[in-house]
Formats: sequence, C-alpha cells, structure tokens
Amino acid sequence: MISKRFYTFLHRQIPIIIALSLLPGLGYLFLGWLNDIFTPAFVWYLLIVAESFWGYRLYRNFDFETMGENQREAWYCELSWFFYIFMLLWALIFLLYVRHDSQKLHYIAIFTEIGASVVAASLLASDRKLFKPSIFILMIPLIVYFLLIGAWHGYVLTAFACTLTWVLLYAANSTNHLLMKADHQATHDVLTGMYNRHYFIDHLQRLMNTLKENAGFSYLLLLDLDHFKTVNDSLGHDIGDLLLQQITHRLQQQLPKDTIVARLGGDEFIVVGSTFVDCELCSQSAIKLSEQLIANLKETYVVDQHHLYISASIGVSIVSGRSTNANNFIKEADIAMYEVKAKGRDGVFLFNEEMSDRVEKNMEIERLLHFALPNHEITLQYQPLVDSRGKVIGAEVLARWNSSAIGPVPPDKFIDIAEQTGLIIELGNHILETSFQTLREWCDAGITLQQLSINISMRQLTHYTFVEQVETLVQRYHCDKLCGKVVFEITESVVAEDITQVITLMHRLKECGIRFSMDDFGTGYSSLNYLNRLPIDEVKIDRSFVSVIDQNEQNQAMVVTILNMAKIFKLRVVAEGVETIEQLNFLLRHDCDMFQGYYFSRPLSKKQFVEYCHNHS
Ligand code: C2E
Ligand code: CA
Ligand code: CA
Repeated sequence: MISKRFYTFLHRQIPIIIALSLLPGLGYLFLGWLNDIFTPAFVWYLLIVAESFWGYRLYRNFDFETMGENQREAWYCELSWFFYIFMLLWALIFLLYVRHDSQKLHYIAIFTEIGASVVAASLLASDRKLFKPSIFILMIPLIVYFLLIGAWHGYVLTAFACTLTWVLLYAANSTNHLLMKADHQATHDVLTGMYNRHYFIDHLQRLMNTLKENAGFSYLLLLDLDHFKTVNDSLGHDIGDLLLQQITHRLQQQLPKDTIVARLGGDEFIVVGSTFVDCELCSQSAIKLSEQLIANLKETYVVDQHHLYISASIGVSIVSGRSTNANNFIKEADIAMYEVKAKGRDGVFLFNEEMSDRVEKNMEIERLLHFALPNHEITLQYQPLVDSRGKVIGAEVLARWNSSAIGPVPPDKFIDIAEQTGLIIELGNHILETSFQTLREWCDAGITLQQLSINISMRQLTHYTFVEQVETLVQRYHCDKLCGKVVFEITESVVAEDITQVITLMHRLKECGIRFSMDDFGTGYSSLNYLNRLPIDEVKIDRSFVSVIDQNEQNQAMVVTILNMAKIFKLRVVAEGVETIEQLNFLLRHDCDMFQGYYFSRPLSKKQFVEYCHNHS
C-alpha cells in the first residue's frame, strides 16, 4: 500500500528535475554552438523541453484527494516513464559530448553524468523502482567509456566509477530505508503495529474516490471494546496493553485479506472492507463479519495468568461515493456504535437515517437545554405519595421542560442528555433548591408531609460540590420540623460507580437528615450484597413490575419477593405506577407501605398539589 506521503514526495521532485534540466541544458546548447555540434545539441534540448512539458502536465494533473486508486496507479506508471526518459536524455548528451575529447568536452560530459547520478540518487531515494534503474542508466555508459580507454588510468577510473555507483546505490538505499521507517511510524500505531487513524482516513478517502468512479460500495466497522477501562483500572495498563495486542492479533487473523484495519486510539478499532457492486450484499457481509468478530473476540484471553473476557460493540456504515468526506462515514459508524452501547453493548447495528435524525434531535435538545434554565422553561411537578388509607403523605418531585422552540421534552430524554453533557449539575442544583423552597413554603402553610422525594442522578451525587451544597440548603431552608423529610431517589446505577466513595457520600448526607430511596428497584444490577451495604431507607418497586401484576402469578411472585426482601432489610416500600384498583388491592394485601401512580393522581403543579392535599388528608 503506497501512502499519501510517498506520492506527494515524488510529486514535489517533478519541478526540481525540470528546473535542473532546462537551465543547465541551455549551457549545453551554448557549448554545442561553440563547438560546431549545435544541431544535435539543439535537437536534444528540444527533447528536454518536450519532456519538461510532459512533466508539467503530470505535476498539474496530480490531486491525491480526488484521484481514485486506478487513476493514481496510472499516474505513477506515467511518472516512472517520465523519470526514466529524463535519465536517458542525460545519458544521451553524455554520449554526444564525450566523443569530442579534442575540444575537452569529454570533461563536461563525465561531470554531467556523475552529477545527474547524484541528483537521481538523492531526489528519487523514496522509490527503489526509480532510483536503481536511473543510477544504472547514467553510470553504465560512464563505466563502459572508462573501460574502453584501454589504458591503466582508464581501468582505475572504471574501478572508481564502479565504487561510486555502489556508494550512490548504498546512500539512496539507506535514505530509502529511513524514509520508509519514518513513513511506517507516521502511519502505524506503536502498541499494536496496526495502521493508525491518520493512515486510515487517507486510505478511506482514496477508497471513496474509487467507489465514486465505479459506483461501488464498501463497509466501515467501528469496533469499541466493552468495559475495557475496567481492565486497565483493575489490572493496570500493562495488562491492558497486552490484552490489546492479543485482540489485535485475533482481529487481524479473522479479517478477510482485502480489508484494512486500524486502531483509532484507546480501545477503538476501525475496519474497511472489500468493494461490492450491490449495497444489500455489502450490508449483509458487514453484519456477518461483525457477528463473527464479536463471537471470536469473546473467547477467553490468558494474559499474564489472568483469564480475561471482553465483548465488543460494532457500528456499521456503508461507504460509497455519495459523500466526499471520509469523516462523515466514520461519524455514521460512530452513531451506530453508540446505539449498540445504549442498547446494552455486545452487538452490532447498521447505521440508518433514523439514527442520525435522533442524534441530530438530541444535539438540538442539548443546544436548547443550555437556555432552558435562564429562560425559566424548567418547572417542577409533584406526584402524590399516599399511604394505605389513601392519605397524602408525600410527593415525588418531577422535572418538566416546556421548550419555547420545540415544545415539551420528556424528562427521561433531557435528563439523560443533561447527564451526558454535565448540565445536570446546574439543572440538579436548581431542582434541589426549588424543592427545598417548596417544602419550606408548604410547611409554613400548614401542609405537613412525611417526605418529599427528589430524583438525584449519579453524576450529581458524585460531583465534588454536592454534599456542601446540600448542607447549605439544609441550613437555609430547614428547621427541626423539616429534618428527615427530604428523600433522595437514586438508581441502581450506583453499583457502576466507586461504591465505597458513594457510601461515604451517602453517610455524610444522612448526617444532614437526608434519607435515601432506591428507585426503579429490580430493573438494574442490584444484588443483595449492595442492598445490604448501601445506607438506604426505602425501595421503589419499578412500575414495570406493578403494571403487570394482574397478568400472571409469576409477576405477582416477583412483587411479593421484593416486598418480603425489603421487610428483611427493614426498608419501607413504595409501589410506583399504580394505575388500577386491582393492583392497589394486591399491594395492600402484601403490606406495601406507600403508593404512587395515576390511580391516585398524575404529577401536579404546585397549586394543584396543595388542593389535592386539602382533599385527601
Ligand atoms: P422515575 O423517577 O421512575 O419517575 C417516575 C415516572 O413514572 C414519572 O415519569 C412519572 O410521571 C411516571 N408515573 C408515575 N405514575 C405513573 C403511572 O401510574 N403510570 C405511568 N405510566 N407512569 C407513571 P416522568 O415524570 O416522565 O419521569 C421520567 C423519569 O425522568 C423519572 O423516572 C426520573 O428518572 C427522571 N426524572 C424526572 N424528574 C427528574 C429530576 O428532577 N431529576 C432527575 N435526576 N431525574 C428526573
Ligand atoms: Ca424517581
Ligand atoms: Ca422510578
């Protein structure tokens, strides 16, 4: 595979060679005129001029970015002939002038030949196929000339010329070796020896040009290892590096010969496949290959006595001549890969327009979300929590965003985006402060609640200013009467965090009188071990369990198990998403403590909630 640097290096030599021929060529013309060999010298110079035009055309016609593979090969072939013929022309002038030793022109001819050889050895050093024949074309006539002198000084000069030929070849070879090494370093990844991003993008760009030429298709696979960071964090970077090398080896073995694979960085790899005439066939091959790769990568690795397992997420995009920017295809594969990650990793997705629309929409939401707080578009609603007698005992605070530009955006959507972008810190602070304020107002108005539950995202909880901020709020809005009324709802994603740090944080918050509830219980990773270690006071049975209670006994058994388990751990239980009287009766029969759901009330505005309290206390 010839790299872009190689082509551009050769391309740069064309004007230099032309200049080195046209200008000294005038000197030869003058010498020819002085020594009565003007006509052959003139014909030779005309040939040099014609050759220079040819070179100029080759120089102008080169554009690496837009040329297809075939075009580039044809250009390179023509360029080789251009260089060979140039050297032949210089050998020709040597043969012409060397015969005129009576006029001492042979000195000029000999110097010319040596000079031209040095030029060929230095300017064409990047390409063995060019410098070797060129040096021979120029030096062999000289060697033969010295040999034909037939005297002792002729033999000595022959030996010198042979030595010089060897030195030129050796020097050009060494330079070539260095250039190749530098090229290898610039295009390969040090750790795995694979191609790097830089090379890959060049290659993809060239492939796209070829696909445009012949209306073909190819595929791009973006492969990201799942939870690779855990290996690095738990076993160290040395083991991580060794694992990456083994993965590289497996990838290279598994991939068809005509594919190119590169390491984009970290634990991300990218593959571009062979060329297809049919788009559908191309997608099928891509998916099939991805599935094979995923299965193969999942087999155990033994690294320094550790048995390791790793899975991968692959995003696929179909490459064709429809875009001129290689990065567009990589972006598409990236979108598809993130879709796999979002759906639980360890799989493959083919990019489609719908994905891209979603990403664009999310980007729009992200952009607008920055203005949501300053524009007062974020409001809070309160969904009643009731006890077994239907009496309101608390509320859950739920954020609402009614964007002036795109209308209402559901919280699970914007909260997710806020978490990814870090905006959750600012947003969370606002929600927290408003909730404390509301609780204070209600208390002052004589509405006594046992609890106000506030959803806290993990990123917010583990942010370094969070505890301090809660402490300040507690001091600002709390009196003894309010202490212990605020409940933070966290989700089972805590187990993905540094659990010891989270437990320390939770204890500090508990000292301020905050209680904790495990939200969406049963949907995540919670193990009994975590339930035991985390200082929580309450669990919320996820509404996905409550909504299917009436469907069969297995679902009922599930809910009963959670309720029993909570009792063993002495935790209060809230059933979320209660919509029917049947669900409520079932939960009541099994001693559930609190209820929340549309059966009682939808989330309400502050004013509506106060009214609801007056009617249901
Ligand atoms: P969640 O914490 O599980 O909140 C309960 C969700 O269930 C709310 O959806 C609520 O409107 C809905 N719900 C309550 N009762 C019923 C019912 O009987 N049937 C049905 N079908 N749904 C019911 P919402 O308000 O759309 O919130 C969705 C999620 O967004 C929340 O799930 C929570 O994870 C997140 N969220 C909402 N507000 C905040 C917030 O202020 N901060 C954070 N960090 N997350 C929030
Ligand atoms: Ca919640
Ligand atoms: Ca929930």
